[in-house]
Amino acid sequence: MSNIRPKHTTLTQFSVADDCLQIGGMSLVRLAQRVGQTPFYAYDRQKITQRVALLRQHLPGEIHLHYAMKANPMPAVVQHMANLVDGIDVASLGEMKVALDTMMASTKISFAGPGKRAAELSCAIAAGIVINMESEQEMAHIASLGEDLDICPKVAVRVNPDFELKSSAIKMGGGSKPFGVDAERVPAMLARMGELGLNFEGFHIFSGSQNLKAAALQEAHEKTLQLAIRLAENAPMPVRLLNIGGGFGIPYFPGEEALDIVAVGENLQRLLAEVKRQLPQSQIVLELGRYLVGEAGIYVCRVLERKLSRGQVFLVTDGGLHHHLAASGNFGQVIRKNYPVVVGNKIRGSKRETVSVVGPLCTPLDLLADQMEMARAEAGDMIVVYQSGAYGLTASPTAFLNHPPPVEVLV
Ligand SMILES: *Cc1c(COP(=O)(O)O)cnc(C)c1O
Repeated sequence: MSNIRPKHTTLTQFSVADDCLQIGGMSLVRLAQRVGQTPFYAYDRQKITQRVALLRQHLPGEIHLHYAMKANPMPAVVQHMANLVDGIDVASLGEMKVALDTMMASTKISFAGPGKRAAELSCAIAAGIVINMESEQEMAHIASLGEDLDICPKVAVRVNPDFELKSSAIKMGGGSKPFGVDAERVPAMLARMGELGLNFEGFHIFSGSQNLKAAALQEAHEKTLQLAIRLAENAPMPVRLLNIGGGFGIPYFPGEEALDIVAVGENLQRLLAEVKRQLPQSQIVLELGRYLVGEAGIYVCRVLERKLSRGQVFLVTDGGLHHHLAASGNFGQVIRKNYPVVVGNKIRGSKRETVSVVGPLCTPLDLLADQMEMARAEAGDMIVVYQSGAYGLTASPTAFLNHPPPVEVLV
């Protein structure tokens, strides 16, 4: 066994000047002054724009890109994104309202998620949003609401595929799942749909999330497209929308490497020829969340105190688990690993040391970095957590222990 711990790949999305991280065209120190408080989240709009451009460069031109806004629902981020992508995927009434406030055409917004309530469904029907149906009961509910409203609902069937996305940190398809309709039950559902007065748009097949292995995504794309072609044989109308999910991951932990997007794009190009032959009217959609925003965001908190306990240094900060659950290791991780964390105003520093970064909460779970090597920091210095543009603030229990919430800025 090796005792050498794998290191984080050096992150280069933000430049460094005078040993200080630069974001949004200014130094972190200046930004903190501008924000007026720590902790805060900062998202770099140029980095988001560049990420979408990178995808457009490597994916086949006819593929539409949707933003799965639960990754980062800050209204300013969603507004910015609406100018860059081809559609927005929402998963609640609250998200739907933010998406409808953008310039995005409502026909390019889709609504997924189990347990949709009548009020949510009615708003979606009235807005002309495509509803990704998660069950047969939901289909019946939508049909009856459509009748009440005298509007023909636009629907797609979310399919729980008969395979899973391999090497995926978060599996959302295959086996028994609360998401989507089991693939083998879809033909019967499609047969009923014709009688219900629903406007069938197509299929939504999402198998998993946070995948860094191009080969696993290539295999899932192939199986997804095959499944869609098979299911389309029973469709009441031609398939116009084929959302093949996303699942593109970003590197968070030591030893992880960025996804090979070129390989993913080339494979899709190859697969598209067959899809165009079999489903000539269908628009292929990829829905991405963290891949679009995750690397464009940082979380910033300030060191309140250096504390020494039996030879170990703890940097006690004003931020923590209540603002950034994922970085604390408590958002779906089996084994806790450190996010990339640096001292933002002393990237290299004059001295280095191994420290743990903790928050103000009275629980040992409130840990932002466990025994990590970084520049020696003093009270007043700023701790930066990279890869924080997705599943940050809104995925965190801000009410826990009742400390003030962080600010969010798009710069
Ligand atoms: C959460 C979710 C996404 C986004 O996942 P990321 O890992 O952020 O890309 C996409 N589609 C559906 C259906 C989701 O539930």
